[in-house]
Amino acid sequence: MVATPVTPAFASAAAVGGQAPGYYRMHIGRFEVTALLDGTHPFPAEKLAVGAKPGQVNELLGRQDLSSPFEGMINAFLVNMGDKLVLIDTGAGNLYGKDGGGLVAAIKAAGYTPDEVDDIFITHLHEDHAGGLMIDGKPVFANAVVHVSKLDSDFWLDNANQAKVGALLKPFFPAIQKVVAPYVVAGRFKPYADDTPLLPGLTAIAAPGHTPGHHYYLLEDGGQAMLFWGDTVHMLPVQVPDPKIAIEYDWNVPLAIKARETALALASSKGWWVAGAHISFPGIGHVRTAGGGAGEYRWIPANYTLNR
Ligand SMILES: [Zn+2]
Repeated sequence: MVATPVTPAFASAAAVGGQAPGYYRMHIGRFEVTALLDGTHPFPAEKLAVGAKPGQVNELLGRQDLSSPFEGMINAFLVNMGDKLVLIDTGAGNLYGKDGGGLVAAIKAAGYTPDEVDDIFITHLHEDHAGGLMIDGKPVFANAVVHVSKLDSDFWLDNANQAKVGALLKPFFPAIQKVVAPYVVAGRFKPYADDTPLLPGLTAIAAPGHTPGHHYYLLEDGGQAMLFWGDTVHMLPVQVPDPKIAIEYDWNVPLAIKARETALALASSKGWWVAGAHISFPGIGHVRTAGGGAGEYRWIPANYTLNR
């Protein structure tokens, strides 16, 4: 028997590692939506789930060939509305260490600059949604006005409320107060009351539960719509099939479950696009009923497009 000669290697290179800055573009009517990846981090789903049966979290994750902890996203979304450049959430900035802080690189890779952002709409004042207002101790957005529900700003900017939350959420108070401070001083922090019109084509929808003032943003144009639903879902493979499973970060678990059930029912019945902060990048897809028990849903990720 003759041995097969080994083909010589003409080049060898060390694996480079890393990814490109994450952005993904699509359109809602005449509006351009760019999903931006701030970072990813191992999410201890089993530890943080509330109300799951023993073994249920890993069983649901296992259906997607995942187990706890699984890699979670920190997404934000840039919307070019023609006359305004709008950012929905800002990622974690430095508040999640090396796991976050990719937002500015993603904005630049997508062809924009932070200075061009006119308005920032925060779904809720958690570290991984507002932390990116500041990087390395400096405000990132030189011209933007920051908007958030008054209910959330009243809650997180008042240290008296620290006593009302669990140990996990207490450090959010000083962290959030620090990143919004330069915008407050500059007169560019503008909390809104419920039912305040935002911009033509962009509406805030109150969805309290995850935080007192958690809001969705609905973008509509030309018969199309996208719901930016913030933290309605942290663990997509777990909370879409079973919306009754909550998370330790929820301020009010029953209200958070109700908000999730309402959002899933609305998004599936209306056929809206959904854009989620912690759904596998770009975090955009549709919700459909699963056809099993009542209140069970499935997620259909957006089909990739070069978007010519
Ligand atoms: Zn949150």
